[in-house]
Amino acid sequence: MMANSDNNRRKFMATTLQSVGLTALGGLLWSGYTDEVKASPLVLRPPGAIKENDFLSACIKCGLCAEACQNRETNLDKETGLPKEGTLKMAKGGDHKLIGTPYFIPTEVPCYMCEDIPCVPVCPSGALDQLLVSDDKGELDINRASMGLAVVHKESCIAFWGIQCDACYRACPLLGDAITIEMHRNERTGKHTFMLPIVNDNACTGCGLCEQACVTEKPAIFVLPNEVSKGKAGDHYVKGWDKEDDKRVGNAKAIETTTERSSQSSSDYLNSGDLY
Ligand code: SF4
Ligand code: SF4
Ligand code: SF4
Repeated sequence: MMANSDNNRRKFMATTLQSVGLTALGGLLWSGYTDEVKASPLVLRPPGAIKENDFLSACIKCGLCAEACQNRETNLDKETGLPKEGTLKMAKGGDHKLIGTPYFIPTEVPCYMCEDIPCVPVCPSGALDQLLVSDDKGELDINRASMGLAVVHKESCIAFWGIQCDACYRACPLLGDAITIEMHRNERTGKHTFMLPIVNDNACTGCGLCEQACVTEKPAIFVLPNEVSKGKAGDHYVKGWDKEDDKRVGNAKAIETTTERSSQSSSDYLNSGDLY
């Protein structure tokens, strides 16, 4: 009798452990799966991409942008005449990005900021919006792109050590606009000048050419998506000297008022007693 009950207990423990093991394995597989399907905050999208959450719902994963990027005229190898690797990749399993969506990695292939931006007009879903890369006359202007923002890590940038380096500055297609060089006296030596690369937020398109050109072992300048790299001062702080900044706060107030009005009208409706 005793042996029988031990056997039963052993069987029960084995079955329980098996099912716990399977659940854990299932959990691991599921977390791997959700990792691939949820939005990654560090992904860089093509020029003209709408906000990441909207992009994820709008993109139909057709790959036309990546195909246009691959086949762009400027992508031909001068020696062989064959197309080189394109900037845009379509995410696949293991890339830790939503599978089937386009992205790029600057250190592998940056965006070359093609003047005709062939990747954008081919998008059939609106996930890449031509208006976001057009000037006030509605003409395509790649300088309006905002794929991300380059950030300099001062501790590893050798220019901040006092060593002369301007590789990122020279690689930038918006030379002198997106990156400027600021001169500072080197107090330590008393006779040298620091020449520091400074990224200007309103001009940098996030193309990543600087990141690819950086001379350090791991780039001291790198592009991060706007949501990650940029702070937000909030509407309590206004640059009184800058009319554009007034507009920013004005727009936020207008949105707030519209929301208030619409919520007032719904509460008026609920309190009016005219429900029947
Ligand atoms: S603009 Fe950039 S992403 Fe678009 S086709 Fe040119 S290199 Fe590719
Ligand atoms: S990402 Fe770098 S290279 Fe591209 S515009 Fe910005 S600063 Fe210039
Ligand atoms: S290329 Fe790299 S190390 Fe050189 S100045 Fe630019 S960020 Fe600094």
